[in-house]
Amino acid sequence: MKYDYLIVGSGLFGATFAYLAHKAGKSCLVIDQRKHTGGNVHCERIADINVHSYGAHIFHTSDEEVWQFVNSLVPFNRFTNCPLALYRGKLYNLPFNMNTFCQMWGVTTPAEALSKLSIQRAEAARELKAAGATEPRNLEEQAKLLVGGDVYERLIKGYTEKQWGRECKQLPAFIIKRLPVRFTFNNNYFNDAHQGIPKGGYNVLIDELLKGADVLLRTPLHELDCRKTKSGTWQFHRPAMLTCSADDTVEVGKIVYSGAIDEYFDYRLGKLEYRSIHLQTEVMDTPNYQGNAVVNYTDASVPFTRIIEHKHFEMFGDEVYRNPKTVVSREFSEEWQPGMEPYYPVNDERNNRLADKYRELAARQENVIFGGRLAEYRYYDMAPVIRRAMEAFKQQNV
Ligand code: FAD
Repeated sequence: MKYDYLIVGSGLFGATFAYLAHKAGKSCLVIDQRKHTGGNVHCERIADINVHSYGAHIFHTSDEEVWQFVNSLVPFNRFTNCPLALYRGKLYNLPFNMNTFCQMWGVTTPAEALSKLSIQRAEAARELKAAGATEPRNLEEQAKLLVGGDVYERLIKGYTEKQWGRECKQLPAFIIKRLPVRFTFNNNYFNDAHQGIPKGGYNVLIDELLKGADVLLRTPLHELDCRKTKSGTWQFHRPAMLTCSADDTVEVGKIVYSGAIDEYFDYRLGKLEYRSIHLQTEVMDTPNYQGNAVVNYTDASVPFTRIIEHKHFEMFGDEVYRNPKTVVSREFSEEWQPGMEPYYPVNDERNNRLADKYRELAARQENVIFGGRLAEYRYYDMAPVIRRAMEAFKQQNV
């Protein structure tokens, strides 16, 4: 029994690779340790609503090829991400734009907003000078220099402190390099040419990508106990769940690995760290709880960072009221501990250096392709991870 590729992980990286390989006439076995496919874009159907199980996922890109590719598999809807921030009972539009400035200061023209912002930025610069510093020494000083005290206090401070579990004064300034402000009335969070949600949810996209591949769930790579053969290919005992052949052994040409890079090497150089979140999901007997998909809670006294109301990703206008129920998820940031779901890589010096060492090991592995957010220890949005899978597949065929 032979496959050209054993693909570890059915997230967007693995599933895209499987699709392209199948199209090129290659055979693929996809395994995933979770009980579902799709990795972090997986959705669960609750109360007739697609619930983003691992946090809000909004597809956005200016990469025409990737956009055409995903739309050739499933049409995308017209969802536009316009998040709101709630601070002490008052709503503000995000990203920071003329609507936000109007809500904050009552200004109505870009000139008035710029003037107000310039006064506050100058004040922050004066405070810094008075403290004897020439450069911002922490995130608080950096943010105030960029957007002034009011925006910082109401929309950045509490949210950031909840995200990192530390005071902004104790966080390094480099975390916030830029804080874009817009002097137009434009609440569209992304600047990309395209955005949306696959019609019917992300599972439809993943199912399309995996058509043509054999898929085994609840199967971590280490359970297969892959061995290298003399010719450089891989071999393992056929798992009982794989019923399409009666052969005892399975041979695969190459492994495509999208799991954690340190795990692949049995943590021999040490463990990489992540930041994590957890979601508390609730079904409510109301058709419309907050009127928007994403509302950030920027007040430090509220323990969660945001509430996602999932129906708004796929239902618009009066459609929202056709379903008498809604599903919301409160998102809490938390310190990651080994064994927890890894969400965001911590790209500080220690972790970057360690990841580089693992990458060196990975580069020396024969017939293993490493790719995706965990295998590269890089934060990737969805479109770039699809692009990475396209490139990884292309490299196989040059
Ligand atoms: P994953 O989706 O993590 O897939 C990896 C898969 O490999 C998993 O299913 C895992 O179970 C499996 N696996 C791992 N190790 C093993 C093993 N040893 N054996 C077997 N299986 C294994 N992107 C956007 O573009 N827009 C957004 O709005 C957005 N929001 C996000 C919100 C959050 C909270 C997070 C964390 C990410 C967000 N992203 C967003 C990024 C998006 O989730 C990623 O780009 C995408 O999921 C990466 O796909 P992947 O295949 O690399 O990884």
